[in-house]
Amino acid sequence: MTVATVQNFVGGEWVDSASTERLDVVNPATAEPIAQVPLSTREEVDRAVRVAQEAFQGWRETPPTARIRYFFRLKELMEANFEELARTLVMEEGKTIDESRGEIRRAIENVEVTTGIPSLMMGYNLEDIAPEIDEECIRQPLGVFCVIPPFNFPTMVPMWFLPYAVACGNTFIIKPSEQVPLSMNKLVHLMDEAGFPPGTVNLVNGARGVAEALMEHPLVKGVSFVGSTAVAKQIYAKAAAHGKRVQCQGGAKNFMVVMPDAVLERTVPALITSVYGCAGERCLSGSVLLAVGEAYEPLRDAFTEAASRLKVGYGLDESSQMGPVVSRRHKERVLSYINKGVEEGARLLLDGRHVEVKDYPGFFVGPTVFDRVNPEMTIARDEIFGPVGSIMRVRDLDEAVEIIHASPYGNAAAVFTSSGQVARRFQYRVQCGNIGINIGIVAPMAFFPFGGFKDSFFGDLHGQGRDAVNFFTERKIVISRWF
Ligand code: NAD
Repeated sequence: MTVATVQNFVGGEWVDSASTERLDVVNPATAEPIAQVPLSTREEVDRAVRVAQEAFQGWRETPPTARIRYFFRLKELMEANFEELARTLVMEEGKTIDESRGEIRRAIENVEVTTGIPSLMMGYNLEDIAPEIDEECIRQPLGVFCVIPPFNFPTMVPMWFLPYAVACGNTFIIKPSEQVPLSMNKLVHLMDEAGFPPGTVNLVNGARGVAEALMEHPLVKGVSFVGSTAVAKQIYAKAAAHGKRVQCQGGAKNFMVVMPDAVLERTVPALITSVYGCAGERCLSGSVLLAVGEAYEPLRDAFTEAASRLKVGYGLDESSQMGPVVSRRHKERVLSYINKGVEEGARLLLDGRHVEVKDYPGFFVGPTVFDRVNPEMTIARDEIFGPVGSIMRVRDLDEAVEIIHASPYGNAAAVFTSSGQVARRFQYRVQCGNIGINIGIVAPMAFFPFGGFKDSFFGDLHGQGRDAVNFFTERKIVISRWF
């Protein structure tokens, strides 16, 4: 079977990459290739950056009120193509159709927030900083920015950055994850249809080589990265060494604390969605349940029972509640963690290693539950990024917080309780960027910044909302006096 190779979009034109190096894009449910992605060359990156730089002057001089009209059109096009975008996501990434719809909705919300740029981008001023002397702070765009996103949210993650960058007057290059380039390809087709001037938005396919060429390019002003911590650290160092503005979101290990006074019948469904939603391939996925005292037994039983009822299947089947993981390699990685958990003595209450889905030979792993996990075990420390939940019994809130703080990650943590005092203590003390109070997934909403602490984030300004406006603009001070 021959499949099409995705194209690059540079200077308003769809072009074939000159590269002969290609990778298969594989549907994780069918295990069949559905496209090929080129690993574009350094020269192609250079051309895209130059084209984006040339487009910058005209675009930054376009009034913000005119710039956002393209985003109003884009929003309409995304709504009109909503189902097609969601279905493409299912086919390249594996998540269920409902999860894909959620992702597209989050992407659209970022476009919506961006249409407020004329207000969000305003500076501020003060008259009479000295007699008859005034001072103002102006925000200006900087030039060419790029995004290097992960595989798990191919549409939403780039949209934490792109709309803000472009609406603020910068130009932009997307390098999609080489595993999942198709939904972004469709989205850029919609941007093309929305009529963004040539060169304002560009798409260059590839993997590490393209990412490095972007970071090393003297005309690139800034880099937004989201992915694993190991790569985040490398990118942060490399981009900084090349003088770029940089924000790097890394991996995660998220702990969910369940207090004895938690409302169990509401807590368990929230935990199930957190641990098994998107097959556990979310940087916000719950991974370790810290059951406090008396909460332990009822939680263990209800959680394991609910997990065992999840229907695993192809994401395009509306009745599926959990799809496959993204690739054969990733499935092997998740299975090796389950094997490790068994070897290290955790008790396997629900084993997802041998799940099969009729007619679909893809990369399925069933919901897996470990009990009697302790903080030293590998499954309690490493990011697994698969549908594996671990249960650990702890004495009290203090011990739970100690365990959370021993992790190098700090992306998200949640507490389930009926006590306002416990909730307040939790949000006050816990060193994570996203805290859930009776919420299992602290979803990134476009009007708030999104990012973690510790090894889950390198930089200071996060994606989305006002942080994004700060990241994509430079503050200029003007002091004036008129004689
Ligand atoms: P990854 O780090 O393997 O790849 C991310 C991106 O970096 C891809 O576009 C890839 O092509 C590129 N890349 C890979 N190696 C590179 C290198 N050495 N130099 C330059 N570029 C390189 O991550 P992934 O497997 O695609 O995504 C999963 C990870 O992303 C998980 O760790 C997850 O927690 C994390 N994630 C974090 C957030 C967050 O907000 N913190 C959100 C989503 C995903």
